[in-house]
Amino acid sequence: MTWTEERVAELIRLWQAGHSASTIGKMLGVSKNAVVGKAHRMQLPSRPSPIKQSTIPRRVSKPAQPATKTVVARPAAPAPRRAVRHASGRSCMWPIGDPGEPDFHFCGGPALEGKPYCEEHCARAYITRSRSSSDEAA
Ligand SMILES: [Zn+2]
Repeated sequence: MTWTEERVAELIRLWQAGHSASTIGKMLGVSKNAVVGKAHRMQLPSRPSPIKQSTIPRRVSKPAQPATKTVVARPAAPAPRRAVRHASGRSCMWPIGDPGEPDFHFCGGPALEGKPYCEEHCARAYITRSRSSSDEAA
């Protein structure tokens, strides 16, 4: 047989339609090998597999996401302030002056650990107390 223009055109059409070489050969009345050989000589592109094309959905390639598993850094919980209060918040509460006077104030000096007064006023307070009441473990 000879490859007439019609046959070549038909070969190309069927080839591009995705028919197998053997099918094309049957339709053109030639052997499969003839179809393959002719297609090869004409450098027809490899046919896309109709099966793959129809059954495998084209995967839209997602943009590669950086592995940002890193949790958004939360602001650290505010540190408990007890320590700060204990360290610097105490001042001597020894009253100085007469509460009715405008210049009445508290001592304000650094209170002793576990005491409401500074060292000086602690001494005065507990001396005074020990006189009036006999308890109060110093
Ligand atoms: Zn004081």
